[in-house]
Amino acid sequence: MPRDRFTRSLLDEPQLVSALIATVAPLAPIDKTYSYLVPPEFESILAPGMRVTVPFGRGQRPIEAMCLEVARGKWDTTLKPILKLRDERPVLSNKLLELGRWLARYYSAHLGRTLDLMIPAAAKSRAGWRKVKYVTAASSEIPNSAFRIPNSSQISSPKLPPKQSALLELLESEGGRFPLAELCQRAACTPAVVASLGKKGLVRIETILEPVEPPPPAAGRSEPQFELTPDQTAAIAQINAAVESRSFSVQLLFGVTGSGKTEVYVSAIKQALSLGRQAIMLVPEIALTTQTVRRLEDRFERVATLHSGLSSVQRSRAWAAISAGHIGVVIGTRSAVFAPCPDLGVIIVDEEAEPSYKNQAAPRYHTRDVAVQRAHLEGIPVVLGSATPSLETWKNVREKKHYHLIRMPTRVRGLAMPRVHLVDMHEEHLARKGVHMLSRQMEAYLGGTLERGEQAVLLLNRRGYAGFLHCPRCRTVLTCPHCSVHLVFHATTQLAHCHYCHEKLTLPEICPKIGCGGPIVRFGIGTQRVEEELAEKFPAARVRRMDSDAMRTPADYADVLTAFEQRDFDILVGTQMIAKGLDFPFVSFVGIISADTALALNDFRSEERTFQLVLQVAGRSGRGDVGGDVVVQTFAADTAPIRHAVAGDYEGFANSELDKRRKAKLPPWTRMMRIVVSDPLMTRAQKAAAKLAESIRDTLQRAGVAVDLFGPLPAPISRIRDNYRFDLVLTFPTATALLTAIDAFKAEATLHAPARTIIVDVDPVSLQ
Ligand code: ADP
Ligand code: ZN
Repeated sequence: MPRDRFTRSLLDEPQLVSALIATVAPLAPIDKTYSYLVPPEFESILAPGMRVTVPFGRGQRPIEAMCLEVARGKWDTTLKPILKLRDERPVLSNKLLELGRWLARYYSAHLGRTLDLMIPAAAKSRAGWRKVKYVTAASSEIPNSAFRIPNSSQISSPKLPPKQSALLELLESEGGRFPLAELCQRAACTPAVVASLGKKGLVRIETILEPVEPPPPAAGRSEPQFELTPDQTAAIAQINAAVESRSFSVQLLFGVTGSGKTEVYVSAIKQALSLGRQAIMLVPEIALTTQTVRRLEDRFERVATLHSGLSSVQRSRAWAAISAGHIGVVIGTRSAVFAPCPDLGVIIVDEEAEPSYKNQAAPRYHTRDVAVQRAHLEGIPVVLGSATPSLETWKNVREKKHYHLIRMPTRVRGLAMPRVHLVDMHEEHLARKGVHMLSRQMEAYLGGTLERGEQAVLLLNRRGYAGFLHCPRCRTVLTCPHCSVHLVFHATTQLAHCHYCHEKLTLPEICPKIGCGGPIVRFGIGTQRVEEELAEKFPAARVRRMDSDAMRTPADYADVLTAFEQRDFDILVGTQMIAKGLDFPFVSFVGIISADTALALNDFRSEERTFQLVLQVAGRSGRGDVGGDVVVQTFAADTAPIRHAVAGDYEGFANSELDKRRKAKLPPWTRMMRIVVSDPLMTRAQKAAAKLAESIRDTLQRAGVAVDLFGPLPAPISRIRDNYRFDLVLTFPTATALLTAIDAFKAEATLHAPARTIIVDVDPVSLQ
């Protein structure tokens, strides 16, 4: 009824009238925002961050949308009114809305879908919330509130029945505001008494949506009994000061494996809590970081761990409790970066270089970069921790003034770094008959470890499906004629590819080295073969395998890790997933069966991955009093990543790799966008990619953006699930150029092509 009156009176007026207008984004794969009229009954309630139902499109079909802004503006009579409010209060704060807008723009994703992703599906169901009726005394209301203030004669009216006046007195003596149920109980009266007072205008009754109280915190938190190292003390002083300053900064905690980074995180979180604020701690994968997570959970009272094992009701409850400020510490993987903490004090990103921080579905955001952006918007510090920082972060810390480097170069308790021994597998193959995955040196160390009753970890990165090409006679490894990188054999093309300059060569049958003429051999291996060889060579050893084939659920990981921690078996064999964060005091030996498999990937980050992997896995060794050894088997003993990893020299590697990337105009010196066009028909995929390349060039020329465009080329994995894939790789000189390009693509609807799917990946972490 009020809307009708409102509408008619406005239509009678010829001139535009001021009205409340909402800008909304449909929660759908749509980029645009739209304006709607806010009907009077929603005026005092609607706020940005609340979901609404609006009529949309030609058919005026009701759809769900997110309110982004509410502002008074000139009412254009064509504007349709909002139909319904779907939330009683904002589900996204202004800062999270702003973060969503940034994310959608930078990662070239739909705003609606991005905002939708930021609210977990479960939280929309409202589980974890309850409705509570509150009674407020009129005398305690502030003047000029919406509530009518009765005159004083009414308040002190002697005519009130005794029950009513007793209740009013109780309410006022308790501060003027009380939950209805409790008030009735205390005053021993029925809600009817309150209702009568309400009719007289002496109290107001309102229904408020409140999060269900979380269970009381568990007691008996244990604090560890050691003294902090001087490095830890210094790191804590700097980071705590940053948290206290309540301003944006990025603190890179560059600490070797076993330097005690977790203790520094704990202290930063405590600092935030002492300021009455909250903390978010991001980890790459819960299943693989159970130890770290458990240690953190043990230290705090109000922790919410968000992981894939939660039921949707549990997830929704956690979300409600976080948003009400009941939770002090949120621990989780990627999407936990969107946790709705009302007053965030610090964000921590553990193992910031981990590729699993990249979301592999649209929007393809990098959790670390979103964390930095969120910290910027919230005006708080973010702590990035790693023993092998990403080159992006390393470059930033060298160049940007709000990045601060904190070094922790030594292990806790004066423990030595593990001794790393290199085995040249060329030599090994020449010296030994048959195929051995374990070299003689590896066998010797492993035997010794088992004899002493200690534990071992063996790592094999099986993802190197593409073989490494070498000549066992003269030890030549085939390299690109234009770049100092190894060629990689691809089964799909039957050619040797270069991942720097995209050169492709036919495979020589014999070694190209003059006078050698030996055979060219591909080196390929798998975890199961390792298991077999172990059974043969160490029949008494108890071995368990951990790779994505053997592990089905998150519980499987926890089971294996717990069993290993309890020393139920001796040798843990696994893929790179075992490299992360594990801290087992009885592991005194780590064997890397092939350090080269990551090098064989067709990707400009292969060297960086190889280096990180070797250093990370080596770091699992010697974390207890028993000391530690590491054997690294490689065909590429003289390459930079292996040499630097063996020496434990992160800075040497990072600086030389950065140099190389600069010369090749690769990230982090440029910003990369990868576009994958795929289609079940190869020719259609190829043509669509070629056409897309053309329109991209046109758009960028009009926009005046400099770009290097490579492709279309068949993707390194040229067919996935019956779809042929073609790559376009764009590199932009600066972030600004990238953003200008993305805006231009959106404005001109450039990124469309007649193919089944087009994936846009900004800052890709993998080019597979
Ligand atoms: P990182 O993450 O740097 O590899 P962690 O934080 O996992 O290292 O710490 C390694 C081990 O050292 C853990 O078992 C931890 O409890 C222990 N630790 C941490 N700080 C100290 C210290 N100051 N003295 C003794 N032990 C410590
Ligand atoms: Zn090359």
